[in-house]
Amino acid sequence: MNKFSFVDCKTVDEALGQLNNGATVKAGGIDLLDLMKEGIVAPPKLVNIRNVDSLRGITVSKDGLHLGPLVTLSEIAAHPDIQRTYSGLSDAAGHAATPQVRNMATVGGNIMQRPRCWYFRSTDFDCRKKGTSDVCHALTGENQYHAVINNSTCAMVHPSSTAVPLLGMNATVELTSKRGKRTVAMSDFYVPPEKSLINETVVQPGELITGIFVPAPEPGTRSAYQKYGEKESFDWPIADAGIVLVMDGNRCRKAAVVMGVAAPTPIRSAAAEAVLTGKTIDEATARAAAKAAMQGATPLSQNGYKTQLFQTAIYRTVLLAAGQMQRDPSAIG
Ligand SMILES: Cc1cc2nc3c(=O)[nH]c(=O)nc-3n(C[C@H](O)[C@H](O)[C@H](O)COP(=O)(O)OP(=O)(O)OC[C@H]3O[C@@H](n4cnc5c(N)ncnc54)[C@H](O)[C@@H]3O)c2cc1C
Ligand code: SF4
Repeated sequence: MNKFSFVDCKTVDEALGQLNNGATVKAGGIDLLDLMKEGIVAPPKLVNIRNVDSLRGITVSKDGLHLGPLVTLSEIAAHPDIQRTYSGLSDAAGHAATPQVRNMATVGGNIMQRPRCWYFRSTDFDCRKKGTSDVCHALTGENQYHAVINNSTCAMVHPSSTAVPLLGMNATVELTSKRGKRTVAMSDFYVPPEKSLINETVVQPGELITGIFVPAPEPGTRSAYQKYGEKESFDWPIADAGIVLVMDGNRCRKAAVVMGVAAPTPIRSAAAEAVLTGKTIDEATARAAAKAAMQGATPLSQNGYKTQLFQTAIYRTVLLAAGQMQRDPSAIG
């Protein structure tokens, strides 16, 4: 690990004043310290925001849900209003990682975590994204956990579980810098590799996530999230689905179908949403939506199984959100 200085900040202004010359924000530190130990990043200065009290707190109002970026995954999972009204988000936070990690991991850090691609994470390998190679070795190499959609430039997947329901719930992210504040929709937050191989998000150097806002759901909204993986716990998903349905009885008025680790960014499936919208939700429509979501998938040499796993995740999570199926005991977390 490189030598670095450590600045402990108590206010947003103090933190913004320190974010210069390659300094990096540290929240829970789980991903950041990993990356530093692996030698993937080497910031000269860490700006610790963990003691900035104004970045904590969960507020639920008639307008929606406001999360400070330092809210932990455990706090989200345990919050009764989030469980009741934003259950897909509570599911995602509560089934990420392990209890110890969830106690430390912040939601801001969670949506900002870097890809898990093993070529990216190891200094023993070069990689197009790291700028050390012109080729992406995942395309022809070990790619069993990689993307099955939009995977021709860089086949990484974004590992954040909470980003999946946040995208489906039309959340927005508040970014603050010395220049002021701006608000970015979750749908614009992640940057696909075709636009930038360097940045996974629109967050610029010197910017801090200072809030995440989820608008109040329309009456009749139900949501759910489930993730599937190799191990029962302690692991990132290899397929996950976040579903938001606006229901009128058994009929679906609006749907958001989001997949987390299918592509380099969390993505909505317009095809699956079109299948569900205006229909009665039952096993047949859930299955048709799941199939539509994988139309056009371009699996790599070792990850064809993910197209089936995503269909299972979407089918079962649509029915879970609609209240027609229990949580799947084979879903992990
Ligand atoms: C064993 C294990 C299993 C895991 N499984 C899952 C899983 O299933 N699902 C899942 O989603 N995650 C999983 N994780 C990842 C974990 O949830 C993330 O590493 C964690 O949420 C990161 O949050 P943090 O607060 O520690 O972020 P940090 O490590 O402090 O920061 C991460 C990144 O975000 C930036 N950052 C943090 N806060 C801000 C801010 N306010 N503004 C701007 N930039 C910021 C940092 O600069 C850094 O680049 C797992 C981790 C482990 C160790
Ligand atoms: S998938 Fe992306 S991060 Fe992984 S080796 Fe290819 S270019 Fe690098």
